[in-house]
Amino acid sequence: MSALESTRPSNFIKDIITEDLKTDKYGGRVHTRFPPEPNGYLHIGHAKSICLNFGVAKDFKGLCNLRMDDTNPTKEEVEYVEAIKQDVRWLGFDWQDRMFYASDYFERFYECAVELIKKGRAYVCDLSSDEVREYRGTLTAPGQESPYRNRPVEENLDLFERMRAGEFPDGSRTLRAKIDMASGNINMRDPVMYRILHAGHHRTGGKWCIYPMYDYAHCISDSIEGITHSICTLEFEDHRPLYDWFLDELNVYHPQQIEFARLNLSYTVMSKRKFIQLVEGGYVRGWDDPRMSTISGLRRRGYTPEAIRNFAERIGVAKRDSVVDIALLEYCIREDLNKRASRVMAVLRPLKVVIVNYPEDKPEELDAVNNPEDPGMGTRKVPFSRVIYIEKDDFREDPPKQFFRLAPGREVRLRYAYYITCVDVIKDEKGEVVELRCTYDPATRGGDSPDGRKVKATLHWVSAEHALEAEVRLYDYLLTKPNPDDVEEGKDFKSIINPGSLEILTDCKLEPSLKDARHGDKYQFERMGYFCADPDSSGGKLVFNRTVTLKDTWAKVQKRS
Ligand code: ATP
Ligand code: MG
Repeated sequence: MSALESTRPSNFIKDIITEDLKTDKYGGRVHTRFPPEPNGYLHIGHAKSICLNFGVAKDFKGLCNLRMDDTNPTKEEVEYVEAIKQDVRWLGFDWQDRMFYASDYFERFYECAVELIKKGRAYVCDLSSDEVREYRGTLTAPGQESPYRNRPVEENLDLFERMRAGEFPDGSRTLRAKIDMASGNINMRDPVMYRILHAGHHRTGGKWCIYPMYDYAHCISDSIEGITHSICTLEFEDHRPLYDWFLDELNVYHPQQIEFARLNLSYTVMSKRKFIQLVEGGYVRGWDDPRMSTISGLRRRGYTPEAIRNFAERIGVAKRDSVVDIALLEYCIREDLNKRASRVMAVLRPLKVVIVNYPEDKPEELDAVNNPEDPGMGTRKVPFSRVIYIEKDDFREDPPKQFFRLAPGREVRLRYAYYITCVDVIKDEKGEVVELRCTYDPATRGGDSPDGRKVKATLHWVSAEHALEAEVRLYDYLLTKPNPDDVEEGKDFKSIINPGSLEILTDCKLEPSLKDARHGDKYQFERMGYFCADPDSSGGKLVFNRTVTLKDTWAKVQKRS
């Protein structure tokens, strides 16, 4: 396969790269980067960008750097840097020895700024940030030139050096690019390049008290690293002239910026700034709360890197913003786990069943299939005994028409075991059903009737004396509405947090084969969904998260559209 071909479907970014390779624009090189700001944990939107940047590099036999865009010291932390590295690695990507920090280039940024000042292309401005905003104008009205715009070069050099030396307080001065206050593009109206901020940085400590702005630092970082295609989200489209302006004025190696539509998912938020509010406001248990669509949250929930990569592939890369239905993400994990997860039996809301004609102390072992999708995963033994648990929901004293599961006098199949018939219902003083008495038919061992007798339902169950106790956490969407902006006036997305997003069941019964389940292990609990052992499992206490139910809502969504 030549570097021009790729294994996966094309998109407009790949088309651009293919064309650039044909014309030898970058000497046959393809070099991308993923440039997160370490001011929070990564989310599924970042996963799209990671898959795109590392994926494109891989497809064209190029390279992809991991770069911490750490130019804003007040919001950035080492914890986030470590979490970002872990998430990128977990998704299956490798930056090899190309882990970079924008802060490594601070000296270079400074030199470039001095060069622009000398060229008369940058000046020190004494306007406050409010004044800068006022002078900037609007979409319809041109801006006004700063009274400091025509300072002599020598004065600018002197002031800029003193800004660096710490002579001035925060916010008192900025360094601005001298471009065009009448430009139709507001980003070109003398944008700020540097601001004064007396704040320690997690890597450079107290060395700097001036920090570069994103638009200025990003293009130079790309240039230093020899990036060929600088892929970013659409909101930077209007910043591209500025990206190009800095590099042209500095006359340095010039990558090309390409914008694509960011990922939005229904029923959740998609911004570190919003996730941080959920974490700090105590709405969730942390960045890796399984309700969060952070990568760490999805991992804890039981998502696999394969499912997320597959999701990124399916949503594709577009030039226009849209919202992806969260049902598609769920479809992708279901599809993946269907192939790889062992089936086991777990009763989440137990109802005790005594099989009255089954011997008191003669438990037996029955054969169960681990995964009908994959016979190679083998079989296991499941113990059966006189007292078992079934789901409360699988019994109705007065069954409605369409209810075919257990009811008084009715016969059903117990998966891998026997046919049972309900002969008696025991209630407590409040009238609640607390126990069922059933008979079983020994001739139906394994779950088939020799006389061809049909039953309409098959229930899962767990033997009481062999059951493992577990806590199971069920999750629903984080928000009650698909659109996080669909809120009352004056309120924000926190007003539509789903109060039922977490349900904790503490009295669950699991089949004994789950005894050694370790954090991260994934199973299908028959009929109940896919589940993943949570890191809270410890010291014999088992905790599981429901990753996703078995109901494929995506198929329904597609049929409708
Ligand atoms: P947030 O709003 O969550 O803070 P951000 O864009 O400020 O996101 P960065 O750390 O700057 O976060 O993003 C790193 C990279 O990930 C950028 O190239 C950005 O374009 C990309 N990215 C961020 N959010 C999304 C998204 N929802 N879909 C696709 N790519 C995204
Ligand atoms: Mg950002």
